[in-house]
Amino acid sequence: MRQKIVAGNWKMNKTLDEANTLASEVLGMVADEVKSEVKVILCTPFPYLLSIKNLLGNNTKISVSAQNLSEHEAGAYTGEVSAAMLKSIGVAYVLVGHSERRQYFGEDSALLAKKVDIALKHGISPIFCCGEPLEVRESNGHEELVKKQVEESLFHLSADELKKVIVAYEPVWAIGTGKTASSQQAQDMHAVIRKHLASKYGAVSDDISILYGGSVGAANAKELFACADVDGGLVGGASLKSRDFTEIIKSI
Ligand code: PEP
Repeated sequence: MRQKIVAGNWKMNKTLDEANTLASEVLGMVADEVKSEVKVILCTPFPYLLSIKNLLGNNTKISVSAQNLSEHEAGAYTGEVSAAMLKSIGVAYVLVGHSERRQYFGEDSALLAKKVDIALKHGISPIFCCGEPLEVRESNGHEELVKKQVEESLFHLSADELKKVIVAYEPVWAIGTGKTASSQQAQDMHAVIRKHLASKYGAVSDDISILYGGSVGAANAKELFACADVDGGLVGGASLKSRDFTEIIKSI
């Protein structure tokens, strides 16, 4: 059975105190109320990963994730953070290819394939993000573009490697805009992604969690998460408030 996952992407927000408070509030709720088959992941800024990981303790229902990593092993790459560093502090997940990284930092498919590889090499599961900008959706090129993104950064993996990857479909026009894809649009694209994975990996595609991201909130989460191929969400803005985020988690 596919893992149900709700991940919160804090982006570049919160001070340490605020981050610890938010994580404690989410932990309290997760410990008491969340079904054991649901995994909650907090994608925190780098400086808080270790302290929040320690704060979460041994609770297996909730983990931390980095938001990015270097494609290089180690060396003279000032300001970068390596997979080995993340692994050494016990980080098990990393976002790869968030649309903000693609858009503002010029990350392309070839680079993202390297980031996926180095994460897997160090035993870290990539949460691989894909999704189309508005003009591509409007010209009806969204399915082809997303298939291409998936193919170019993931199709070199073995089936065993792919099993460790989580995919997040995030239409760029829905991120931080308050404009959510309809549940039908989300389901259709998730089914396209799963079918595309199946064309290369067969039945393994049934085991890959595909998350939806793009203005998920307490009001729309339930309907989105009820779709057959939507295995949870990657939540930005609403993950910064414990009450909103926990409502979303409860809707899965
Ligand atoms: C995101 O940052 O991945 C995201 C989906 O943001 P938001 O929920 O704010 O649209």
